[in-house]
Amino acid sequence: MDLTTLKIQHCIKCDLSLTRRCIVNGRGDINSKVMLIGEAPGYKEDKLGLPFVGDSGQFLRALLRFYNIEPKLLYITNVVKCRPKGNRLPSDIEIANCTPYFIIEILRVKPKIIVLLGNTALRAYYPSIQTTISRERGRLHIYDNTVILPMYHPSYVLRNKDDESIVLDFVNDIVLLKQLMTYL
Ligand code: URA
Repeated sequence: MDLTTLKIQHCIKCDLSLTRRCIVNGRGDINSKVMLIGEAPGYKEDKLGLPFVGDSGQFLRALLRFYNIEPKLLYITNVVKCRPKGNRLPSDIEIANCTPYFIIEILRVKPKIIVLLGNTALRAYYPSIQTTISRERGRLHIYDNTVILPMYHPSYVLRNKDDESIVLDFVNDIVLLKQLMTYL
């Protein structure tokens, strides 16, 4: 990984390298105080080489903009940088292989707020804690002067868009993020 740009140029640590079209690096302001961490690239991200540009990414960006949070001013990345084919969940070994990359991103960006989007990000960030995003979402944690905000993954919200409580929880968490950002 290039420490100035935080871009991985080449990686063959796991078999995802055999099926990916490209490595999907983080995107946004590497000096941002807010970092969003998702799971892994999907079809469109793999095609374009950019994180969160598919349906769930567009949904997330639209909601952020609705609350006057400009996505370009954040740093957005994924735990796993290459697409697991068929959009399956990344395996434990794939997550473990990619974890050093997102740890380096956290050390370089030094965010004051980290948003964990979904179970994969939650488990990668807290590998020794057995919990779920449904239990943790909206509950703030503070570690080393950094606020951690776990939220549902936007694709989970899109899949359950008829469930008012899930959508409301997600919107409330974006509002909470906005409130936290006023203290930066
Ligand atoms: N889902 C993710 O977790 N990351 C992306 O980049 C796209 C969809």
